[in-house]
Amino acid sequence: MATQSQVSGGLSNELMQLEDQYGAHNYHPIPVVLSKGEGVYVWDVDGKRYYDFLSAYSAVNQGHCHPHIVDTLVNQARTLTLTSRAFYNDALGSYEKMVTGYFGFDKVLPMNTGAEAVETAIKLCRKWAYEKKGISENEATIIVCEGNFHGRTTTIVSFSSDPDAKSNFGPYTPGFVRIPYDDIDALKKALELPNIAGFLVEPIQGEAGVYVPDENFLTSAYELCKGKNVLFIADEVQTGIARTGSLLAMCGNCSCESKCERQNTYRKPDILILGKALSGGVYPVSAVLADDDIMMVIKPGQHGSTFGGNPIAAKVAVAALEVVENENLIGNARRLGKLFRSEMQRIIDKSDLIVKVRGKGLLNAIVVNGSPDSETAWNLCVKFMENGLLAKPTHGNIIRFAPPLVITEEQLLECVEIIEKTIQEYESNLSK
Ligand SMILES: *Cc1c(COP(=O)(O)O)cnc(C)c1O
Repeated sequence: MATQSQVSGGLSNELMQLEDQYGAHNYHPIPVVLSKGEGVYVWDVDGKRYYDFLSAYSAVNQGHCHPHIVDTLVNQARTLTLTSRAFYNDALGSYEKMVTGYFGFDKVLPMNTGAEAVETAIKLCRKWAYEKKGISENEATIIVCEGNFHGRTTTIVSFSSDPDAKSNFGPYTPGFVRIPYDDIDALKKALELPNIAGFLVEPIQGEAGVYVPDENFLTSAYELCKGKNVLFIADEVQTGIARTGSLLAMCGNCSCESKCERQNTYRKPDILILGKALSGGVYPVSAVLADDDIMMVIKPGQHGSTFGGNPIAAKVAVAALEVVENENLIGNARRLGKLFRSEMQRIIDKSDLIVKVRGKGLLNAIVVNGSPDSETAWNLCVKFMENGLLAKPTHGNIIRFAPPLVITEEQLLECVEIIEKTIQEYESNLSK
């Protein structure tokens, strides 16, 4: 592993040591200290420029410091920041109208982080199960998947299958059963269990390593849930908002190039969870969307958040969604995603180091040759950094590649060159 002093200057070292000494050690960052971002680029404190191939876990789909979003944020911050929901504010209603129209739901419940939105969806599903489906008190069960990532709260980690996320954070919240991901027979069986209220699923598992399910999985799962009056809950915090080359990953191969026209393979989830790119990465904004028959089970005083639905968040989210449409991020992600995977496949065909590329739109991953606990993926990411591209290993020996969706073809091909060159250098060092 490269040491910090090998890869960055004195100021970087000082700043990394500060975080190391005074911050909790709940992350293991790549040794680069960033101080500026614009579009697909970020700069470190020494002024070196990098391509951002993580996009803050797909929060920065619209590119760093997008001027339309930042102007909106600054203007609203000078005007009114927070009222709490004890009062109405003049920004929330028009945001709610826009976001529900954009995604095709009757109602939205605004929150801040992704984990809060997932918690909201779980509460909504349970309450619906007791009040509408008639499940008896405290018996509601939600089906989840192996390898899931839905956030870090005590309830959410209770149904994680990742020992790091879960161990020694018990006692765990009951009411969940876990099935293998992308396993329609397992879902069929689980739906026969008593008191099933919902199925919570990521349409593509991002954190687990960008696992794309079989192309019929989501539609079949949806139909099975419908048949059992079980709510289909899509966690699109990472996959949503143009990342996978459609408005939502639930859209599958639907060919809408902008707002969803609900065709073909799209099955509208009963509950949709959004976060991350809903603000373009400038502010924590998340949302839970559902139609009235579900959302209206929550009455005044039964759920909320001091910051949820604040005027800055409302204005920022409108601006962020405008950018998605105005700059055709859906079409761009779809087109450049195909190009990126074919370029990665070309590299794989002549390399022993990388064995596979998978993904959809501009949410992709390469699988590095070697055991899941080897350091190769980490070491490669340090080399990518040295060559001007930032990415991070995800679970096992997998590197996720998710640039901002405003990337151009020319920029993408330059990144492919960096990746190819880095892999070649790495391989030739190995054989020395
Ligand atoms: C990031 C993520 C979350 C959690 O969002 P936070 O804002 O970090 O709480 C939930 N679900 C998925 C699929 C995510 O990728």
